[in-house]
Parts: sequence; C-alpha cells; structure tokens
Amino acid sequence: MRSRTANRSGIVIRRRVTPAGDIIVTLLTPHGKVKAVARGGVRGPLASYLNLFHHVDVHVYQGPNNDLASVKQAVLEGALPRLAEPERHAFAHLLAEFADALFQEGEFSGQAFELFAGALRGLSHQPDPEWVALVLSHKLLALAGFVQNTSHCARCRAPDPAHPDPLGGQLLCSACSSLPAYPPEALDFLRSVVRRTVRASMDAPVPAAQRPALWRALERYVTVHVGDVKSWRQLLPVATPPADVPA
Ligand SMILES: [Zn+2]
Repeated sequence: MRSRTANRSGIVIRRRVTPAGDIIVTLLTPHGKVKAVARGGVRGPLASYLNLFHHVDVHVYQGPNNDLASVKQAVLEGALPRLAEPERHAFAHLLAEFADALFQEGEFSGQAFELFAGALRGLSHQPDPEWVALVLSHKLLALAGFVQNTSHCARCRAPDPAHPDPLGGQLLCSACSSLPAYPPEALDFLRSVVRRTVRASMDAPVPAAQRPALWRALERYVTVHVGDVKSWRQLLPVATPPADVPA
C-alpha cells in the first residue's frame, strides 16, 4: 500500500489504550469504519479529543508498511456531555458495540452513520433512553440486513406467530413455543419497528414491564445471527433471571 494522508470525520465507537500509551480508536464515518492509532496519544492533547462518542475530524497517515493508520491531528466537532450519565452511557455503549459489529465499509455506510449519530442524539436528549436504545437497535440491525420474519413462525412457518423464541429470539407460533404470547404492545413493536419511522416508534413506547422480554429476544437474536455483543451482560435486566428460559 502506498503511503497517504487523509481527513476522516466520524464518531468514536471504540477506544482502547495500550500499555505503551497508544490510543487505538475505531470511528464510524459516513464512508464506513476507520481504525487508527494515536501513538503516545494518552500523554498528549489528543487524549481528550479521542473519547468514546465524540464526533471528531482526524488527520490520518497511512504508512506503506503499517496496517493501522496513525492519527496526526484531531479536531473535536461535537460531543454529547449527557451521554456520561450512567444510564445513558450504558445504552450508548451498547449501540456503539452494535454498530461496530454490524457495519464495515459498504453501501449502507452513509445511512448507518446518520442512524447511529441520531441514536446518540436521542440517547442524550430523550427522557426515555432505554426506549431509544431498543428502537434504534432494531433499526441498525435492519439496516445491516438482519430483518426478522415476523409474519411466520421461525420453526414451522405457521402464520402470525405471537410467542417468544427463547433460543433464537424470533417469533414462534403457540404450538412451537411453551411460553405465553407477547402482550399486544410488545408484539406490535416487533412486527412494525423495521418499517415504521424512528419518530413513530418513539411516539409509541412499549410499557416498561414488557421491555425485559424484548431485550432478551434481541440478545438471543443478535447472539445467534451477529455474534456476541459484550455490553449485553452489564446492561440487561438480569437481576431477575430470564423467565423464558426453558428448564
Ligand atoms: Zn410453529
């Protein structure tokens, strides 16, 4: 690869400090993900810019023999201070891991960036960050091509399934599931979130009591179809053991 320099504008979705004091960041940009290293960055002015969820404009240098581009300069373009609040931070962290797992370079990049940036703004400003995270998780999945078939049972293809699938996180018919059907609000959400606008979904929140089941279904679905997303463990309401796990 030839050496080259470039400017990239994006949101920090992953940040790691190495023992040598380098900061390795992954940015989600309108042109896909960019991974770069700020060598010795933890001791310099870049440290405060290259923080999780910051929107930064970085000047990167790709050397002929280096896999990883080097960050030479960074300018802070935007930050959402309220994302530091513990509850909002946990959901932002989950969506960032999600975006990291779902998106590479590709044709959805511009939309993925807009959706993710909008998700962070929503998490920062909305009074119900959990609902923002649930809606946008499904939207990000759909954008990446993971669209559940909610019109047929995931196991036997019977129409209009309404019961949880404790293994795959999809929808099952009454004959295939040993669990009670989803309440109407949760079922309506699962059936319509992909085609509804974010705004319409935000205006019709599912009652809080029904959300743990939605999170569990999402976790199963993502684990089976996308891979392990680490933030689930700390985020999900696991204090009460999942009720829909078969004995
Ligand atoms: Zn079935």
